[in-house]
Amino acid sequence: AYLRQLHSAETQLQCFLAVDDEYALRQAALIDSRLAQGEDVGPLAGVPIAVKDNLCTQGLQTTAGSRGLHGFVPTYDATAVARLRAAGAVVLGKTNMDEFGMGSSCENSGYQPTFNPWDTKHVPGGSSGGSAAAVAAKQCIAALGSDTGGSIRQPASFCGVVGVKPTYGRVSRNGLVAYASSLDCVGPIAQSVADAAAVLTVIAGSDLADATCSQKPVEDYTAGLLPLDNLSSKPLAFKRLALIQEACGEGVDAGVTAALAGAVRHLQELGAEVEQVSLPSFAAGLPAYYVIALSEASSNLSRYDGVRFGQRGAANELKNMYASSRHSGLGSEVRTLVRREMNMALGRFDALLCPAAPTTAYRVGEKLCDPLSMYKGDLMTVNLNLAGLPAVCLPCGFSGQAAGNALPVGMQLIGRAFGEADLLKLAHIYE
Ligand code: GLN
Repeated sequence: AYLRQLHSAETQLQCFLAVDDEYALRQAALIDSRLAQGEDVGPLAGVPIAVKDNLCTQGLQTTAGSRGLHGFVPTYDATAVARLRAAGAVVLGKTNMDEFGMGSSCENSGYQPTFNPWDTKHVPGGSSGGSAAAVAAKQCIAALGSDTGGSIRQPASFCGVVGVKPTYGRVSRNGLVAYASSLDCVGPIAQSVADAAAVLTVIAGSDLADATCSQKPVEDYTAGLLPLDNLSSKPLAFKRLALIQEACGEGVDAGVTAALAGAVRHLQELGAEVEQVSLPSFAAGLPAYYVIALSEASSNLSRYDGVRFGQRGAANELKNMYASSRHSGLGSEVRTLVRREMNMALGRFDALLCPAAPTTAYRVGEKLCDPLSMYKGDLMTVNLNLAGLPAVCLPCGFSGQAAGNALPVGMQLIGRAFGEADLLKLAHIYE
C-alpha cells in the first residue's frame, strides 16, 4: 500500500532519487514469514521507511544528491540504516536532498527539485526535503534525515511533520556522507512524536565505527510517553520553559509569530510556565556556523577527487588546507559562547522554545538566486548544532489561512544534551 501511495504521489512531488519495489516487497515478505513462524521480528517489523540519500544503503545507489556520486552503490549500510533493518523496518528508497546537505530548499539537488505536499508551488525545505515531504505525503511512515544546521527541523517545519535532531553523538555517523563532521546528526522525521521516538530508540547508541558516537546507554524513548487518553488536566505542571527572545522578533513572519504564540498558550493551558530568556550571542551563531560548516565541508569533500570517490575531476588540495586552517583559527570562540549561553539557559529551564524557521515554506525559485536570504532562514536552527543540543520540531499551527493558502508552522523544543527522553515526553504531551 505504501509503495502504491509512493508512486502515485511521486509524479507531483519528486521526493525519491531511488526506489526498489522488488527489494522492499521481498523484505516485507521475509518479515511476514518470520512472523508466521513465531520469530521476534523486531520493534519496527514491516514499517516502511525512507532514507535520505546521504546515508549509505547496501546495494542501493547513494549519491547525497550529487551528480558527482552518480552510480555509487555502497557495499555496506550506514549504522543507522543497518539498525533499522535489524529492527524489521523495510527501506523503500532514497530521498532527495540538497547536494551534500548544502541548502535549505531541496532545489540544490543535482537531480530534481522536490515539491511541498501542502502546495506544490512551494519548497519542502531542506536539505532533508525529500524525507520530510515523503512523510507528509504518507509515502512512508517515517524517514531518516540528517541535520547539520537545521536540515531535519526546517523541512519538518515546512511540511508539517515531526523532526528530531538528536544530541551530537547520540546516533552514529558511520555511513553518513559527511558535510560538517562536528555538526552532522542523523535523526528521524515522522508523522508523530511517538513514531519519531520509536525510530530514535532503534538508531541511537554507541558504535565502534564512529569515535564521536557516545557510549551513554540508550533509553527506550517510547517508554516515557504518557498514554494520551490518560493525561491529567495539567500534565506539564512544574515544567519551566523559556521562549528565546532573539528568535522571536524582527525578521520573523507575522504568521509564524502568531502560531508560536498559540503554541505558548497551549503549553500554559497544559500547566507549563513559559518565560522569556535572552541569549545575546544568538545572532552570532549564523556567521559562525557558515564559517565552520563550509570549512569542514571543503575538507570533507576533498575526498571526491575522482580517485577515491566521485567523478574524475581536478582536486584542489591547497585550498582545502587553507579552509581547515581557517576553521581551527576562527570557529571556536563564537561556538563556545553560543554553547555556554544555551547551556546556562537550560540550567534554569526544562526546555527552550522558538520557531524552527522565520518563515513558512517559500515559493519554488523565490530564494534560489539569493543565497544570503536562504542562509538567514537557518538562524533558528544552527545554534543547536554549534552547541550539540537536541531539539524536536513539531507542527504548532498554520500561517496564511486568511489568504486561503495555509502552510504549516513548526515549533522547536530544545533540551539538554542527551535529554531526548524528557524532550520527547514534553513534545508528545504538547502534540
Ligand atoms: N542550510 C544549511 C546549510 O546549507 C543546512 C545544512 C544541513 O543541516 N544539512 O548549511
